[in-house]
Amino acid sequence: MIPGARLILLGRQGAGKGTQCVRLSRHFVVPHISTGDMLRAAVREGTELGVMAKRVMDEGGLVTDDIMVGLVRERLSQPDAVSRGYILDGFPRTVGQAQALDEITAVRPIDVVLDLDVPRDLVLHRLTSRRVCRDCGTNYVADGVEKLPWICEVCGGDVMHRDDDTPEAIAHRLDLYEEQTSPLIQYYQRNGRLAIVDGVASPDEVFRRLTDAVEAARRPS
Ligand code: ADP
Ligand code: ZN
Repeated sequence: MIPGARLILLGRQGAGKGTQCVRLSRHFVVPHISTGDMLRAAVREGTELGVMAKRVMDEGGLVTDDIMVGLVRERLSQPDAVSRGYILDGFPRTVGQAQALDEITAVRPIDVVLDLDVPRDLVLHRLTSRRVCRDCGTNYVADGVEKLPWICEVCGGDVMHRDDDTPEAIAHRLDLYEEQTSPLIQYYQRNGRLAIVDGVASPDEVFRRLTDAVEAARRPS
């Protein structure tokens, strides 16, 4: 394995993207760039962006392309991303964002776009039972028998139900995904950079499929 990579992980919310991105970022030794985490950090810091983003996120809507592209452009210009690469999680989410990203990455193009494919019914179920550590972002699954208050095993932070994981917001996010994000699959298929990975399997098996897809895409053909 050669360290360094420029990767995008697409997929429905709740497909297990977050966890797989953390593993991929360790495996390829690249920063994990999650636009959702960046926005949640802004919300915690109470910046102007954070105040605006909180409103949008709580409704399950999308922050405007202009703002998101600005954030990502800035982050990808940092030395770690320039020298080693990155794994992008949660971006692009619209064709407009993908077009802007093509321009940003024209000098150092993306190696491969991975689509983590999990059907809508399955993610709906996973999202309603999802709980997240407020401090480190580790995901948990609520099964109704957990001890409260719920403390994160990784960092000791509070494990909470995300404000935007209400049934209404989840349904809205999944609709937006079909409308705005799923066209990206055709977008990347057209220029031959897409690898579809079946995400219905154990986390270890899915991780193996993802790394295999990256290695296959990097092999000179
Ligand atoms: P999930 O974990 O549900 O996939 P994320 O953590 O990626 O969601 O993002 C949470 C919220 O942040 C989204 O519902 C959306 O409001 C906002 N957001 C994140 N990334 C983007 C983006 N690229 N474009 C627009 N909005 C975004
Ligand atoms: Zn934690």
